[in-house]
Amino acid sequence: MAEKKTKKSAKSKEKDNKLFAEFPNLYKDISEDDLASCMAYAEEYKAFLDISKTEREFVANTIEAAEDLGFVDIETKKTLKAGDKVYSSIKGKGLMMAVIGSQPVSTGVNILGAHVDSPRLDLKPNPVYEDTEAAYFKTHYYGGIKKYQWTTIPLAIHGVVYTKDGEMHNIVIGEKEEDPIFYITDLLPHLGGEQMTKKANEFIAGEDLNVVIGGMPLKDAEKEPYKAYVLKYLNDNYGLEEKDFVTGEIEIVPAMKARDLGFDRAFIAGYGHDDKVCAYPAVTALFAQERPHKTCVCMLTDKEEIGSYANSGAQSVLYENFLMELLAKNSSKDGAFDLLLYRKAIAASNMLSTDVSNAYDPKYASVSDPRNSAYMSKGMKIEKYVGSRGKSGTNEATGDFVAKIVSIFAQNNIPWQTGELGKVDAGGGGTISAYMAKHGMNVIDAGVPVWSMHAPYEVISKIDLYYTYLAYKAFIENI
Ligand code: MN
Ligand code: MN
Repeated sequence: MAEKKTKKSAKSKEKDNKLFAEFPNLYKDISEDDLASCMAYAEEYKAFLDISKTEREFVANTIEAAEDLGFVDIETKKTLKAGDKVYSSIKGKGLMMAVIGSQPVSTGVNILGAHVDSPRLDLKPNPVYEDTEAAYFKTHYYGGIKKYQWTTIPLAIHGVVYTKDGEMHNIVIGEKEEDPIFYITDLLPHLGGEQMTKKANEFIAGEDLNVVIGGMPLKDAEKEPYKAYVLKYLNDNYGLEEKDFVTGEIEIVPAMKARDLGFDRAFIAGYGHDDKVCAYPAVTALFAQERPHKTCVCMLTDKEEIGSYANSGAQSVLYENFLMELLAKNSSKDGAFDLLLYRKAIAASNMLSTDVSNAYDPKYASVSDPRNSAYMSKGMKIEKYVGSRGKSGTNEATGDFVAKIVSIFAQNNIPWQTGELGKVDAGGGGTISAYMAKHGMNVIDAGVPVWSMHAPYEVISKIDLYYTYLAYKAFIENI
């Protein structure tokens, strides 16, 4: 009898262990086949990331891939039936895509929504100047950055400019091996004594993020020969005049390509994982659909890093217009729109707000609650709420919606983890989820954990990327 009291049977021990939530490192038990698929998916992602550093490039490359798969502009369709594939560009900087399901759109749609803008430096409207025999661009940073991280790294110029005839021209300089790069200087340590005593948020001022763009004088220039040299170069090569910077949209981004990180290649370092590491699996999960049960939608938004404003941000009605058009063209032969039917369809819709989150970093353990943090290589993070200071500004997903999602992942053997961004009152952040929940749909944040988020070169785990893709696919196919 005594022995029975102190020693539990193996079976009951196993039952007790099942009571505990466990989130194992997914590299531990992965099969050879799954690992090969994970590595192959990572290669595709890196290649896409390298050609899609800006929101415009990500959208253009996605439309090109979508058209190859039979997607057409929704404008060209009078009615929509099961299996139809449509998209709508949101000002060239956001994108809506859908594969029509066999169930009517009025029964609700399944949405994956990511953002494709990333922190960077934008050019000021009048950016070119010279100082002490060198030419520079003035910049205005975009999104939350640690300014000192943007000095002394290779930078590239990406963007569009408009010539007098109104034509748009793409500019990408700094990505090819033979291209020049651009650069923001920092002070040598020998003379940096005073600078180094300043706070990290003060020692590189926003106004000092000036990019070196030239150092040769234009012969016979009437004034400012170093600036004149750059302006002549831009005029000869792109037909630009200085005033054209006002209409242009030019972004300065890190010139580095995405690279495998570590002897074992477990991780990828790259620019713009936030949020292209969720946008890419969202896009490919939609591309895997041929004739889904419910209509599946992939939403790529702009301006998330600065509050989702403007006509290309998630708060813009343009995204909703696409959903309205889906319903109208699917529910009626003449494309008539019924507002109440639409509101009910949206209330019956489900969305994963596919955005990255912080991965626990033992170097900075003090900002995280280790029991409620995402970790590298433990899979996609489900984040029931984001926000800051007492959940302020958050979309909080309802328990029944979370229960549905978790059971779909269980049925499809998809591992996941959970947590908050950081410790209570340590800081916070937001995503597009609150703006979409406002329309009445069920929304929860779910994405890839990131080390060094918002740095010029961020880190993710390949296995998290891979299982996030499988999770997004399972979600839109089964919710
Ligand atoms: Mn993000
Ligand atoms: Mn971000």
